[in-house]
Amino acid sequence: MVMGDRVEEVDLAVIGGGPGGYAAAFRAAELGIETVVVDSGNRLGGACLYEGCIPSKALLHVAAVLHEAERAKEFGVDFGEPRISLDPLRKWKAERVVGKLSRGLAGVAKAKGVQVVGGRAAFDDSRSIRVDGDDPHVIRFRHAIVATGSAPARLAGVPVSERIMDSTTALEVPEIPERLLVIGGGYIGLELGQVYAALGSAVTIVEMTDGLLPGVDRDLVQHLARRCDKLFVAIHLGTKVAALRETSGGIEAQLEGKGTERFDRVLVAVGRRPATEDLGLEHTKVARDARGVIQVDDTCRTSDASIYAVGDVTGEPMLAHRASRQGKVAAEVIAGRPSAFDSVAVPAIVFTDPEIAWCGVTEGQAARDGRAVKIAKFQWAASGRATTLGRSDGVTKLIVDPESGRVLGVGVAGPGAGELIAEGALAVEAALLAEDLALTIHAHPTLSESIMEAAESLFR
Ligand code: FAD
Ligand code: NAD
Repeated sequence: MVMGDRVEEVDLAVIGGGPGGYAAAFRAAELGIETVVVDSGNRLGGACLYEGCIPSKALLHVAAVLHEAERAKEFGVDFGEPRISLDPLRKWKAERVVGKLSRGLAGVAKAKGVQVVGGRAAFDDSRSIRVDGDDPHVIRFRHAIVATGSAPARLAGVPVSERIMDSTTALEVPEIPERLLVIGGGYIGLELGQVYAALGSAVTIVEMTDGLLPGVDRDLVQHLARRCDKLFVAIHLGTKVAALRETSGGIEAQLEGKGTERFDRVLVAVGRRPATEDLGLEHTKVARDARGVIQVDDTCRTSDASIYAVGDVTGEPMLAHRASRQGKVAAEVIAGRPSAFDSVAVPAIVFTDPEIAWCGVTEGQAARDGRAVKIAKFQWAASGRATTLGRSDGVTKLIVDPESGRVLGVGVAGPGAGELIAEGALAVEAALLAEDLALTIHAHPTLSESIMEAAESLFR
């Protein structure tokens, strides 16, 4: 510590105000712990609220409205050609969606007595952090929670150009490029690729593995792949971008084995890396792996007894709801309560059209582990509700333990899959039997009946 530094003493210092950090801080305050959140943006919400979950879902809603309006022609309703004005669209997203939620979080922090401090924090040692920014000072803590999140992974050799975007820039919708190259066929590439295609861009996807959404069961992904085949001008699987070069008025991309193509803009979406650099962790006993992922036990404690870590800094799956759950666990453990991150199912949703959602054991994972499972499927072509929506392109499947009948995993592809997966997560977490799902009355006509129908198919 440098002589003359202002020093603040607190019970708990949370570094990072995203869904991991603010969930931890709110729970700690509820349990009577004096808590300070240090966030470099001086606000709560993190990547999720300002450059992730929320703005992307707002734009996907716009894409869904455009798609529904187009589809309405099938049943004789023609709204005419859509006219898109980017300024009101950006304003709605920033003020009516992100701004509203941001003000809500600030209000909750005030009500719970959580102090939010602006500035970047770095550890001086295992008991103190230094905060830079407008009011540089030192915070001495009894406990700290690292919740600094993640940042987009970079591709080696990519030139600096405003035409080359990461997800943060792409969510600002600087323009609707005529031709957009999306590098990466994962969550972000597909969600934002669909947004830009709906807005009018000709989108090309390049994915280095041999399928979209690697790791997700193929029978779910095929429903999305069919839609993407129609929506995108090209999908190059098993392909890498060998080089990107800025030319006058565009970006030239050399696609391995596929020649050179010109695009107006490029979106790089090849994964995210934990934000653990420049955090002064070398002054503590916190252990990280080679990728910078902080190692934690099931109470979210690091190898330094006074320091916990939650959210994207602790690795995959990098999802907001996992970060929040971990945040609550860390706060409860610090308050001396018996708590652990022992969730069996972390649901995952790709909010594309159609949505793809899964939780618990996947069929692919069971095969890789040599684990015997029974699969029950219900194709939405036989669903009354899907037919009334004109959307029979879906499937619901259960992954069931053949001995006990216990539901181990659930997968859904189709519009609304993201809402349906909540029942799947409850079934897996509560160790329900497929029979429980079959015997529970599901209202008619709903897409949720597909879960009951899939379960019933096991007893015919
Ligand atoms: P973050 O939300 O990243 O918050 C970390 C905070 O720490 C930030 O405010 C940052 O400024 C601050 N910070 C970093 N370093 C310091 C420092 N040294 N000092 C002070 N402050 C610091 N997940 C979902 O579950 N559903 C979705 O639909 C979804 N959509 C996404 C869409 C996109 C485009 C992206 C990029 C991500 C999406 N995610 C989604 C992932 C989700 O955003 C993250 O999993 C989640 O935000 C992680 O929360 P966190 O608290 O770990 O960190
Ligand atoms: P991702 O891991 O989902 O997908 C990255 C894709 O890029 C993979 O398919 C990978 O094979 C491919 N890839 C990697 N290097 C490549 C290369 N050189 N050329 C071509 N393809 C390459 O990562 P993402 O889409 O960047 O998203 C990051 C994370 O953010 C996600 O893993 C997820 O945790 C989170 N996220 C979640 C949601 C959601 O919950 N709906 C939405 C967006 C992001």
